[in-house]
Amino acid sequence: MTCRIAVFGTGYLGATHAACMAELGHEVLGVDVDAAKLAKLEAGEVPFYEPGLAEVLKRNVDSGRLRFTSSYEEAADFADVHFIGVGTPQRKGDFGADLTYVNAVVDQLGPLITRPSVIFGKSTVPVGTAEALARRLDAFSRPGAEIELAWNPEFLREGFAVEDTLHPDRMVLGLRKTGRGRAEEVARQVYKKLLDEEIPFIITDLSTAELVKTAANAFLATKISFINAMSEVCEAAGGDVTTLADAIGYDARIGRRFLNAGIGFGGGCLPKDIRAFMARAGEIGADEALTFLREVDNINMRRRTRTVELAREAVGGSLLGARVAVLGAAFKPNSDDVRDSPALNIAGQIQLQGASVSVYDPKAIENSRRIFPTLSYESTAVDACKGADVVLVLTEWSEFREMDPRALSNVVRTKRIIDGRNCLDRDRWTEAGWGYRGMGRS
Ligand code: NAD
Repeated sequence: MTCRIAVFGTGYLGATHAACMAELGHEVLGVDVDAAKLAKLEAGEVPFYEPGLAEVLKRNVDSGRLRFTSSYEEAADFADVHFIGVGTPQRKGDFGADLTYVNAVVDQLGPLITRPSVIFGKSTVPVGTAEALARRLDAFSRPGAEIELAWNPEFLREGFAVEDTLHPDRMVLGLRKTGRGRAEEVARQVYKKLLDEEIPFIITDLSTAELVKTAANAFLATKISFINAMSEVCEAAGGDVTTLADAIGYDARIGRRFLNAGIGFGGGCLPKDIRAFMARAGEIGADEALTFLREVDNINMRRRTRTVELAREAVGGSLLGARVAVLGAAFKPNSDDVRDSPALNIAGQIQLQGASVSVYDPKAIENSRRIFPTLSYESTAVDACKGADVVLVLTEWSEFREMDPRALSNVVRTKRIIDGRNCLDRDRWTEAGWGYRGMGRS
């Protein structure tokens, strides 16, 4: 059965969700407040880099199943299934989540809805937000509008967003404890093709649904910081964290994934989500339960300063006047997302200590330039490395993993490389005469 769907917010999450819902056969309207973004999407262009999304978007825009608008009136008139996918960034000045955008969608949309509708929240929000939004809707919607709010958190990974949306490893739906209506039935219609593939579908209450998302992110952040803490111990003890991770990773209870030591996590989700989780735990009297996340955050941020120290040591004790090449600016490979990117943060810190920094990234230069205009940007890895006293690999793009050390040997001033992601073949680089420094590897 074809559903008429509106998706509010057409960023990394929303644009992917809108395109994929159209791919499932639904009629979809993407809604945003950013006119430039909408113009690109309407032309069938993805305003950011996400592998495979361009094809899905174009196919569905061309077929007429997927359209975009800035008009809430049009969305309320067109759809009876609404998804909220707007941002929930960290509030300025504290750890809590800024719910301005999520609240704005509900406040604007609610009074415009005239027929039975379901609003599914997908944005990552602190526990308790969905119930508060449902109450707002009860208070402000038209009498008899029958609007139900449910929470359907999103687990997609940038770089795999299309695959994760069309073939998720699980789906979660949170429903209100009282006054349940058609939300589950509507979700089953929207996701019929996925449910036919027997993807686990967990139905729960609103709070648990919100918590599933923040707990998953807290766990992943903890796993990364755990191995980075082991990396610090390995450095002090003369051990090798990569071998350690391989060895403990064979234990099925531990698992090898997310055990790569390096410069730590960043991006538009993990850092702000663990902070918002701590902030909300404090508000509901459960702060002790999450004090460990402060340490997870500390370990993570320490990786950035440690990498700057390694760069300083590599150039003889002072960055003043040194030439530093930074390969990688995105917070992870296969993405152009530079929000809270450890790579860019490190590049910025090194520059502030007096070095001249040249940055290259296969996809994230434009976004990097916008938030860090003072760094210099090059269009190839070789150009960025010209005359460098040290090369830092800070995002594990396959282009860097596969790089031939000999291709760079003639352009750098000194053959010294810091592998911030432990992603290079150490032997290959040392055999080519390079001084190699990994993270947590003696
Ligand atoms: P984003 O910044 O890329 O996109 C947010 C979009 O919302 C922007 O295009 C913005 O213009 C738009 N917007 C703001 N106010 C609006 C309004 N009132 N009406 C309509 N549109 C409005 O953010 P994102 O990365 O897509 O994240 C969105 C949410 O999804 C966040 O809560 C995030 O934590 C969560 N999430 C993101 C990912 C991810 O990988 N990016 C994964 C899972 C969950």
